[in-house]
Amino acid sequence: MGEERELEVACWRARAVEFARSWLTPNAATIDRADRLPDGLLPALAGSGLMGLALPASCGGTPTSNRTLAAVLEEIASASAAVATLLSVHIAVAAQPIVQFGTESQIDEFVPPLAKGERLGAFALSEPGVGSDAAHLACWYAPAPSGFRLTGSKMFITNAATAGTILSFATKEPGSGHRGISAFVIPASTPGLTVAQRLDKLGLRGSETTELVFEEAEVASRCLLGAEGDGFKIAMEALAGGRVGIAACALGVARRAFELARAAASANPEDWKRAEVARAFVEVEAARALVERAADRKDAGVAFVQAASAAKLFASQAANRNAQRAFALSGPSAALSDSEVGRVLRDARVFPIVEGSTEIQELILGRSLLTG
Ligand SMILES: Cc1cc2nc3c(=O)[nH]c(=O)nc-3n(C[C@H](O)[C@H](O)[C@H](O)COP(=O)(O)OP(=O)(O)OC[C@H]3O[C@@H](n4cnc5c(N)ncnc54)[C@H](O)[C@@H]3O)c2cc1C
Repeated sequence: MGEERELEVACWRARAVEFARSWLTPNAATIDRADRLPDGLLPALAGSGLMGLALPASCGGTPTSNRTLAAVLEEIASASAAVATLLSVHIAVAAQPIVQFGTESQIDEFVPPLAKGERLGAFALSEPGVGSDAAHLACWYAPAPSGFRLTGSKMFITNAATAGTILSFATKEPGSGHRGISAFVIPASTPGLTVAQRLDKLGLRGSETTELVFEEAEVASRCLLGAEGDGFKIAMEALAGGRVGIAACALGVARRAFELARAAASANPEDWKRAEVARAFVEVEAARALVERAADRKDAGVAFVQAASAAKLFASQAANRNAQRAFALSGPSAALSDSEVGRVLRDARVFPIVEGSTEIQELILGRSLLTG
């Protein structure tokens, strides 16, 4: 890595550490308990410039590398996995795909409010009956005088309750598979679009997850991203990019779990505890190497799908293994409902599911390694 890039990573990592120290560490337990972000946190996040990372300067963002974004997400996640997930979704699967696939006028209209943190972004692919098998969407669209009319529902959508802009997907004909799917950049104010229910989760509490319902929602033709039928490709490319971000979040959780394991073991060190802490340390180092490799490939503009899946698969499992270690080393206090170790364990549990489960990462990797 060049000296300039190293400096950029170090500078933004330090800013993320400071944001975590002043905003997240003091509030993380309350965020988890209340399942809400405190007033002022989102404006503070916007004011910090973190919401515009890896987005074009022409849109009001800061065009850092994805390696820098990964370092920031690691730091934020080590203090609050919920806030890191909010940030990763906002940048990597909402704003960046609009930059990648949007026309100049779509980028000019939709990206600046996201890059400046005036609006939050969301990505709505999953549905009540559709997760891993995203080619079989039931949410459908039909032509309308001003563009399109969307009908159906989206489930488990991060950020959607407060998002201003939602990258959403629908099929022209249910049953037509991936070829029928189109992508739409949808303002949250669209008539016929409502937030139906807010989901009460085990982990990542404070990162809002909701159901969205489209009831003949009128979406203007200028909101179609790419051509009709491009939606599946856009979703898959967005998710590959998103996995680098989610892997970085999982790395932050793995690191925090390692720190908690080490702190617990240091009270009364014994060799079996040293061995557990050593294993936790190696998990973090290995996860970071995979995350950095995936981010570097994304930055270099070379194929990164395999690297992103490997990073997401390993980092999300490392977070779980380290959280288990921290839990085992901490004694009974870890089982108390407000313990940080317990929160880290619950947060870690969600990462192997989001943006493609572990089994789906294995399928992606397996197919890339064994063709035919
Ligand atoms: C907290 C949270 C936030 C989320 N945020 C978003 C969001 O912002 N936007 C969005 O669109 N979605 C979001 N999701 C949805 C998430 O992407 C899906 O839950 C995920 O893709 C898995 O889909 P599913 O839950 O329907 O599981 P299913 O697809 O039903 O899978 C169930 C199990 O079967 C396994 N499985 C499925 N197919 C195969 C196969 N072919 N081979 C082997 N095993 C298989 C899976 O690995 C999993 O263990 C979120 C989910 C959670 C929990």
